[in-house]
Amino acid sequence: MQKDKVNDRQTSAIDVYLSRAFRFLVIAPTAVAMYSAVAYTISYFVGTYRSVSFVGLVAFDITNLIYLAIALYFLFTGCDKDGFIDSRKFRLHKIFVGIGILVQWNFTAYLIPAKEFWAWGPFFALFIVFFFDSKLAHFVIVGLTLSTIVSYFLKPSLFVPRTDEYFLPDVTFRIAHLFMSMVFIYTIVRLGEKYLIHELEKYANLDPLTKLLNRRCLNTYMQDACKKAKRSGEPLSVMIMDIDDFKKVNDTYGHECGDEILKMVALEVSTGVKPGDIVFRWGGEEIFVILKTDEKQAVQVAERIRSSIENCPVNYKDSVKVSVTVTIGVSAYTEGATIQSIFDDVDNKLYYGKRHGKNRVVSRI
Ligand code: GH3
Ligand code: MG
Ligand code: MG
Repeated sequence: MQKDKVNDRQTSAIDVYLSRAFRFLVIAPTAVAMYSAVAYTISYFVGTYRSVSFVGLVAFDITNLIYLAIALYFLFTGCDKDGFIDSRKFRLHKIFVGIGILVQWNFTAYLIPAKEFWAWGPFFALFIVFFFDSKLAHFVIVGLTLSTIVSYFLKPSLFVPRTDEYFLPDVTFRIAHLFMSMVFIYTIVRLGEKYLIHELEKYANLDPLTKLLNRRCLNTYMQDACKKAKRSGEPLSVMIMDIDDFKKVNDTYGHECGDEILKMVALEVSTGVKPGDIVFRWGGEEIFVILKTDEKQAVQVAERIRSSIENCPVNYKDSVKVSVTVTIGVSAYTEGATIQSIFDDVDNKLYYGKRHGKNRVVSRI
């Protein structure tokens, strides 16, 4: 087992994408907000939008200055020195953008006297597309639609007069436009979230040879499992196994045969654990399992797997039968344990087993 300090940073596909796009996600909405503040203010003083209330405009400019300050805070403190975003700050920034969109839209609705301004609603909502987060999309779409409806009641001048012959077509068109745009935006978010991000996640996390999860996502699963065990008191154990003298197998029968054996071992482990347990390919010929059982049961499972692998020779090219054995370390989660301490403990047990004859399960040393 390769010794490696645990990195508790989440590295899911969406995290990687968001850390790359973070600057854009902060700068783009801020730039648009600044542009609108400057444009409205200049328009007011030039005389284009004289009917805009001065107090409203000052409030809008102050709000935008606060917006700029918060955005700068996220921009300068959101990433660590390696360029990865702080996931808590990212969540806060997302909420900030969602609320910012609604605030900007409402200011616009009340400040700008133009009847056609409603058509900009979907443009405001477009910013959420980049986040691929359907909760944020719900929040912004529902908020924008509701505040648009409310603004029509509070400011009827935004409507074509009822007496106008185009009143009904106008209202129908507005509703259809807003509805279709919002559905369109929401569909992009959902498709991106479901197929792009989740599928990417699946492929990025799957080992192509054994079809087990790979080490990339192990920390995320371990963090979740430890949190759950701590909160609910449910049992949690881990095991790590390493094929004995695997180098000899490769040297004797070739890598192709070694690969067949790895696939057999992966299958034996996957079918030997309960459906809720999670199996990872940790490294070359090492497999890691998170089990939702106590140590006693985990040892029984490990013993069963060890024995089934020993008694399951691979019939390589129908000419030679090749058997391997595995050594397994088992460790249970105890109150106060960290992911690193669990990894260290189970690793020590595996190496103890290797030093004491191999082909065995070690839970105590
Ligand atoms: P030990 O009992 O101490 O674990 O001895 P070992 O020979 O299994 O351990 P060692 O670390 O010396 O060698 C591991 C071998 O696993 C070396 C490498 O060629 C082989 N291996 C790692 N990944 C793969 C793989 O994907 N396919 C094949 N065929 N072999 C692999
Ligand atoms: Mg090894
Ligand atoms: Mg080995």
